Amino acid sequence: MAENRQNRSRRDFLKRLGWGGASAVGIMAMSPLGAFGKPEEQADPAKMTIRENRRTGDKVSLLGYGMMRLPTNNRAINQDMVNQEIDYALAHGVNYFDTAPIYHGGHSEEATGIALSRHPRDKYFVATKLSNFGRDQWNLESAKKMYQRSMELLKVDYIDYYLLHNVGGKGTDDFKARFEDSGIMEFVQQERKAGRIRNLGFSFHGSVETFDYLIDNNDDFEWDFVQIQMNYIDWRHADARRGNTDAEYLYNKLEKAGIQCVIMEPLLGGRLAKVPEDVQNMMMEVRPSDSPARWAFRWVGSHPNVLTVLSGMTSMEVLQENVGTFAPLDACSESENTLMAKIADKMNGVPVIPCTYCKYCMPCGFGLNIPENFALYNKAVTDGVLPLPDKTAPDYQQRLADVNKIFQKGLNKKQWATKCTDCEACLPKCPQHIRIPNQMGRIAEILRKR
Ligand code: SF4
Ligand code: SF4
Repeated sequence: MAENRQNRSRRDFLKRLGWGGASAVGIMAMSPLGAFGKPEEQADPAKMTIRENRRTGDKVSLLGYGMMRLPTNNRAINQDMVNQEIDYALAHGVNYFDTAPIYHGGHSEEATGIALSRHPRDKYFVATKLSNFGRDQWNLESAKKMYQRSMELLKVDYIDYYLLHNVGGKGTDDFKARFEDSGIMEFVQQERKAGRIRNLGFSFHGSVETFDYLIDNNDDFEWDFVQIQMNYIDWRHADARRGNTDAEYLYNKLEKAGIQCVIMEPLLGGRLAKVPEDVQNMMMEVRPSDSPARWAFRWVGSHPNVLTVLSGMTSMEVLQENVGTFAPLDACSESENTLMAKIADKMNGVPVIPCTYCKYCMPCGFGLNIPENFALYNKAVTDGVLPLPDKTAPDYQQRLADVNKIFQKGLNKKQWATKCTDCEACLPKCPQHIRIPNQMGRIAEILRKR
């Protein structure tokens, strides 16, 4: 079956389904207008670096659009802005869009479907996931419902890249119970055979043992791709966080197995977009005008077994900057890779909380904004305010006041870590294996010192 899929071109695929060219759903000519409705004179999709899917022949843009966080207006998704950003992305060669039933409070698939269905179906690849996290959803009926709902919301009759979502965190036995014993694995494989899933994969956060099980048994699973967390810190330092596997191991194993990877968290939840000043200086010595984010993207995109690099781009500015980085990608030289390894070692010693802002832990039943508490704490670390010095240090009180100011400015007090009840409901939900209540306790202690 793998051999057949390998030889299947997109055109053959569509012909086989009897659709000829484009899907009957949502056919509309590509808008000649660029962002903000102005004519897009400079758009040149040909500049985008493209990677070929070795199984299906898909020509995938190396920059992929992550639809986890979307632009908002008074807390509601700003659909006009989503449409404009997707139009801009497509006009500049970005053609891979990654969503999930749980993204953006459960509304991402719908917003993505509205925006993408304004374009011809063969101009984009859409990825979504089976986010059956709760044990009550580990059954075929729930999985089918979720899968069909994704199709409806995305307004498609086939899904280009379908992932078993967030696999590995709770070990191999949980994977077996969730997907194999439930009959879900067999179902998605049948859907792939029928052509309604074009590529089947999984997104991974977990231990070496579970990853080995999934890849060593690839004769049974026949994964078309795998989504992994990879950036220059996680390359060799993910293992330091209990329950995670270094990206170097994941990447190399996939490369050996001939499975291409999709990259998530290339900026480690935004942490690599704003690095400590001494690290930024190291980067600027080599490339004075490049941002830390550009360095991180160039590093990850330089790996040849990467099919696409996902970036959540919530504003037009970020989208434009990222398009500039990937159209085309200027691969890192050997000496630049050495520099990034040095920087990774250095940054690994910076005591930030490894939150990627995925929001899987939300909502908190007590109204806390968990990722924002961690983001503000990390900002204080990156700004050099935390960790606090010894109580006797002359700047101790000032630094306490500065931490408080950062929290006052960034978050309503009702959502502060000081309100955490230690209920532990969030504990099993974090793919980064952060002991959330403990970290909340640490932050609360600092905030209460004033
Ligand atoms: S442990 Fe704290 S942060 Fe987690 S759900 Fe309970 S109250 Fe919210
Ligand atoms: S604490 Fe964990 S689950 Fe919550 S946003 Fe951060 S990484 Fe995601």
